[in-house]
Amino acid sequence: MNKKLSLLTQLQHLGTAPCDETTPVAPVGLPSIRTSTVRFNTIEDLEATYRRKSKGERLVTYGRMGMETHAALEDIFCQLEGGKRCFLASSGLGAITMSLLSLLSAGDHMLVADCVYGPVRHLANTVLSRMNIEFTYVSAQSTDTLQAQLKTNTRVLYVESPGSLLFEMLDIPALAAFARQHGLILVVDNTWGSGYACQPLELGADVSVIAGTKYVGGHSDLMLGAVVAKDKALIERIDLNQYAMGYSVSADDAWLAIRGVRTLPVRMDQHARSALQVCRYFDDLPETRRIFHPAFEKDPGHALWKRDCTGSNGMLSIELALSDRQIRTFVNALELFSIGYSWGGFESLIQWVDRPTLENHAYWSREDNQIIRLHIGLESVIDLVDDLDQALQKARAV
Ligand SMILES: *Cc1c(COP(=O)(O)O)cnc(C)c1O
Repeated sequence: MNKKLSLLTQLQHLGTAPCDETTPVAPVGLPSIRTSTVRFNTIEDLEATYRRKSKGERLVTYGRMGMETHAALEDIFCQLEGGKRCFLASSGLGAITMSLLSLLSAGDHMLVADCVYGPVRHLANTVLSRMNIEFTYVSAQSTDTLQAQLKTNTRVLYVESPGSLLFEMLDIPALAAFARQHGLILVVDNTWGSGYACQPLELGADVSVIAGTKYVGGHSDLMLGAVVAKDKALIERIDLNQYAMGYSVSADDAWLAIRGVRTLPVRMDQHARSALQVCRYFDDLPETRRIFHPAFEKDPGHALWKRDCTGSNGMLSIELALSDRQIRTFVNALELFSIGYSWGGFESLIQWVDRPTLENHAYWSREDNQIIRLHIGLESVIDLVDDLDQALQKARAV
């Protein structure tokens, strides 16, 4: 076939080994190649490998660089994100660290959106700080705010859209134009979109970072990260850094991630449908003050979401007019939602977001309400809503 295949079709075939006489298809089509050592027969073979590598071929001389399993997953991430090269890391946070340590040097300054994944602040406040890298947290809702914080040594604009707790949509094309105008590298954490619901590189970002731990893995059983870029010079910088820092991913985890990718679109679509239904449930409650979920029509980011995203997922936050005691009763009474920080797996999760964390976010109303963040899993949404409802009855009775 010479027509362009849809992503859904491509995801079923990428990473599949070429068919010899008989080749297994299930579940990945490639074995999980676990090895540290790569053997060479002759010195000439070794020399030829280095020669071909220097011309840009992805040949491996040592296991840390990743074997065929890893190469297949890298190709899949490039396809999902619309990038030219992908670098794997052992976790999403590892991928963030890889990108920032590749792009920043001592004396540089970085603008960081105030809605980013929490541990990014820890990285900046401790390691980057010690390395004499400056940073400023900003609301990235408008480029005016960014402009006011720009310094002569600003090199990187690091954002996440939608944000990690309140799912505020950022205008990535506008941020990309701003970055270009001021010579900044725009890095976007795209774990929310995971290459399926959003493609920041196509919206103008320079680097996309994904925690494969979440929707790509999809089964809460692996930790993995990816950095994807398209510009040759940036790719070279990340490549040098990745080699120097010794990032390495287990072949089994790469293999599991490829298996996860096969069902990424169907899972994310299902999570998204159920999350919208949960939004509608909360929308009808007297306690609900605000619903944070850009695919929901009443979310202020809905127009941006419609313009820039191609799908959604199971993440949402709700602002509820409940007391501390009531929210404790509500969360503890849930039977199908576990308390947990992660998301992107099959299971439903809940997190009571604490006020000190929210204080960092310009987008937060600062009213005396509670914020809970939910991951809507793959359970029946009817059961999930019933569970939320029975827990709420108990909270009301407090
Ligand atoms: C979970 C998460 C990460 C980090 O991923 P790990 O694999 O847990 O290190 C980074 N960014 C976002 C938005 C996340 O939700």
